[in-house]
Amino acid sequence: MPKILVTGGAGYIGSHVVKLLGERGYEVLTYDNLSTGHNWAVLYGRLVKADLRDKETLRKIFEEFRPDAVMHFAAYIVVPESVREPLKYYRNNVVNTINLLEVMEEFGVDKFIFSSSAAVYGIPKKIPVPETEPMNPINPYGETKATVERILRDLSNSGKDFRYVSLRYFNVAGADPEGKIGFAYPNPTHLIIRAVKTAKGEFDKLEIYGTDYPTPDGTCIRDYIHVTDLAEAHIVALEYLLEGGESDIFNCGYGHGYSVREVVEAVKRVTGVDFTVVEAPRREGDPPVLVADNRKIRKVHGWEPKYDDLDFIIKTAWEWEIKGRG
Ligand code: UDP
Repeated sequence: MPKILVTGGAGYIGSHVVKLLGERGYEVLTYDNLSTGHNWAVLYGRLVKADLRDKETLRKIFEEFRPDAVMHFAAYIVVPESVREPLKYYRNNVVNTINLLEVMEEFGVDKFIFSSSAAVYGIPKKIPVPETEPMNPINPYGETKATVERILRDLSNSGKDFRYVSLRYFNVAGADPEGKIGFAYPNPTHLIIRAVKTAKGEFDKLEIYGTDYPTPDGTCIRDYIHVTDLAEAHIVALEYLLEGGESDIFNCGYGHGYSVREVVEAVKRVTGVDFTVVEAPRREGDPPVLVADNRKIRKVHGWEPKYDDLDFIIKTAWEWEIKGRG
């Protein structure tokens, strides 16, 4: 079976992909500095605790493992922090990605799957947003993802042997339906996580950021995708590259969204807890509506979501909170 090197495989999304890779029989090596990941989250293969800054270690691991393809999840992901600490974000998300791409080139590894984000679109004009919409990020985090996408495009057009798939994630949520892994990150900012933690009693209230948006109930609309459906999208993208597919970019979302109020109601319903909710001012940089046009990944890869159900997404997040390590 092909050998896959997964950076950030101990993190939230990476660990769900490592689980699917392991279940399908791929040989996996996770390369992760464990800054926010956990060794318990890596259910298959070997875990190397190292940083992508450290090119010597990276070379040593490529020499030993000789991967057929690389999946790159390792990155910083907190938008407000990226505004305050842009260099930290450009260093880790861009410069360290260049290290990885250079070592891949040295070892003749030419297949790359990249964790991109709907943040590259900024405030898109078209909703649902297709992949053809221009990249126009509105914060440093989104800029780092857009920058790497441009590097990948140029490398792919350079005449060198290099092919990539960039997956633009919408709002990833939920946890492994078997309850083995899930979100475990300090000071979470994401809506579903904060809401289930509020239901659990970790926070005394949930704030709704902005109730005067141009949407039916005044709150922002997002396209929430279950982390296991997203992980499956990585498997189909990997198989596509292994079979010789050309470089390409795909949105990962369900193609429909829920408002913040709808999510909050669903969390109360699923958890059975009537927690306190307060209306707060808008959070800076939030587009009113962000929903994926997902026709491309469905058509090209035959990807079909299995968990397109908000209550199920919340149920898995809740079970992880109360029974897992969330
Ligand atoms: N949100 C909220 N309260 C929270 C966290 C998030 O009202 O405690 C809103 C946020 O303003 C956005 C939506 O929920 O409109 C989704 O935010 P999240 O941070 O989960 O993901 P993003 O879309 O920013 O990637």
